[in-house]
Amino acid sequence: MSRPVRFNIHPTETKIANAISVAEAPEGYAGEGFFSARLSDVVGLARKNSLWPLPFATSCCGIEFMATMASHYDLARFGAERVGFSPRQCDLLMVMGTISKKMGPVVRQVYLQMAEPRWVIAMGACASSGGIFDTYSVLQGIDQIIPVDVYIPGCPPRPEAVLDGFMKVQELVGQESIRRRNSEQYKALMNSYGIE
Ligand code: SF4
Repeated sequence: MSRPVRFNIHPTETKIANAISVAEAPEGYAGEGFFSARLSDVVGLARKNSLWPLPFATSCCGIEFMATMASHYDLARFGAERVGFSPRQCDLLMVMGTISKKMGPVVRQVYLQMAEPRWVIAMGACASSGGIFDTYSVLQGIDQIIPVDVYIPGCPPRPEAVLDGFMKVQELVGQESIRRRNSEQYKALMNSYGIE
């Protein structure tokens, strides 16, 4: 017996074109059959809508991130559904959870294995500042070992806060000049962390 296909069809007619949000084009000049814009803006537009996160989850905040990835909040809407555990292919390190001093070198090694350009989110109080664990064994914020672009407050942050932090990173990525990673300031930042 064949499957009743009427159950697979949405009862109200929807126009897919109305349900898709299109990324805004960067500032530039448009005319009949042409569009010109700054290369940095076009690269930024592509990068910010195709971030590949690497979730480095060690505790409760990781569970909140799972909720953010799931269907209700759906991080895929931001072009970031390709969560990976291979540092060489990801460009957004999301550190979520308590990072002990023993774990610090591992976080740092993962960061170093990521190719440029790379960005970092510290999600939750623990990753940002050690949180409630003001003890001898816990790192008091991952910015002691790697540079952080966005901090998400909360213990744990709600998925809305995670999405907000993600959108802040998208803003940074979209506005970043393609020359930034070769600049003296960036090299000085890396040197301050002992990274060549
Ligand atoms: S910030 Fe709070 S919820 Fe997140 S890992 Fe630390 S203790 Fe857990």
